[in-house]
Amino acid sequence: MKIAVYPGSFDPITLGHIDIIKRISDHFDQLIILVSESNQKSSLFTAEERASFIRENFKQEPHIQVAAHSGLTVDYAHQIKAQVIVRGLRAIGDFEYEMSMAHMNKKLNPSIETMIVFANPTYQYISSRGVKEVAKHQGSLEGLVPVNVAKALKEKIEKMKETR
Ligand code: ADP
Repeated sequence: MKIAVYPGSFDPITLGHIDIIKRISDHFDQLIILVSESNQKSSLFTAEERASFIRENFKQEPHIQVAAHSGLTVDYAHQIKAQVIVRGLRAIGDFEYEMSMAHMNKKLNPSIETMIVFANPTYQYISSRGVKEVAKHQGSLEGLVPVNVAKALKEKIEKMKETR
């Protein structure tokens, strides 16, 4: 069975991430989207919220599953017998980080391969950070994030304003 893990913060998932998932999922028997629970980056949404936004978008696809994890991605991949870690590459700015992470993961577990998928030019400029900034200033989220995420972002920003 061919199993891949697509790890990330997904805070929140964007149409760029969704495009990568759709393009790679049919190449594997199972694709696990792994939401990082790590506190390294302070996230807007909890890991459970981030995972549920993804689940809602892929509930019709039984071979696409969502999980949350706080440890090393290679350890999770090894546990579930995944052979591949998938990452997306938007532009040269992503390159050094992705390359060093791929080499580090290879050092930690040589049997797991990292595969890099180039972003679709239509979504190349989209980042989770960018969409949070747009949402904060009430910009249009159309074409940037799925509908459930646009709704959740608006609600979250409203709530943050109320508690200020
Ligand atoms: P991380 O914090 O681990 O980098 P992200 O949620 O920002 O997690 O991204 C997860 C993966 O998806 C990364 O490999 C990132 O380069 C990739 N990615 C992010 N945005 C896009 C996009 N618009 N198109 C394609 N890939 C993307």
